Amino acid sequence: MRFLADVMLGRLARWLRLLGKETFYADKKSADDEIIRRAMSLGAVLLTRDGLLAAKAGDYVRVLRLSSNDSLEQLCETARVFKFRIPKNIPETRCARCGGKLKRVARSAVKSLVYPRVYARCRVFRRCSSCGQIYWRGTHVSEIRNTLRRLAPLPRPEPRKRPPRRVQSPRSPSRPCPRIRRMP
Ligand SMILES: [Zn+2]
Repeated sequence: MRFLADVMLGRLARWLRLLGKETFYADKKSADDEIIRRAMSLGAVLLTRDGLLAAKAGDYVRVLRLSSNDSLEQLCETARVFKFRIPKNIPETRCARCGGKLKRVARSAVKSLVYPRVYARCRVFRRCSSCGQIYWRGTHVSEIRNTLRRLAPLPRPEPRKRPPRRVQSPRSPSRPCPRIRRMP
């Protein structure tokens, strides 16, 4: 499944790419018809916050109108609607910047392209086959992992062996997304 994120959803596009989803981004404001045509030619689901665009696009492409302006809440909603799980780890398959595929490269090949302290500390490097961006597992990766762990669904609870105690507890079928300001 492919996605085309509307101009207001740049952070969501980055998150989807980090999760390995093929995601295109309308990086400048375009006419509604142009965006719809692009989604049609890509065969992509259109993600937007624009109600008018969503209504217009609905006749031509699959569209999800997102209500939240928080990128993590948008990610949770997209995952829920299109039934994919949010993994606890980053697949490291796509470039967050452009969506290109990442390929592992020899460490020696990036020596002149990264900071010496990064080169000294890291063993595994990947390069985007489209834009050339180089990725390594820096401190931001653990931040992303922590965020994903919070978003990932809880494991199924063990079946109860004893009858439940008579305690009224609020039912919470799905966990709300935490609001986080930082982005990778
Ligand atoms: Zn790239």
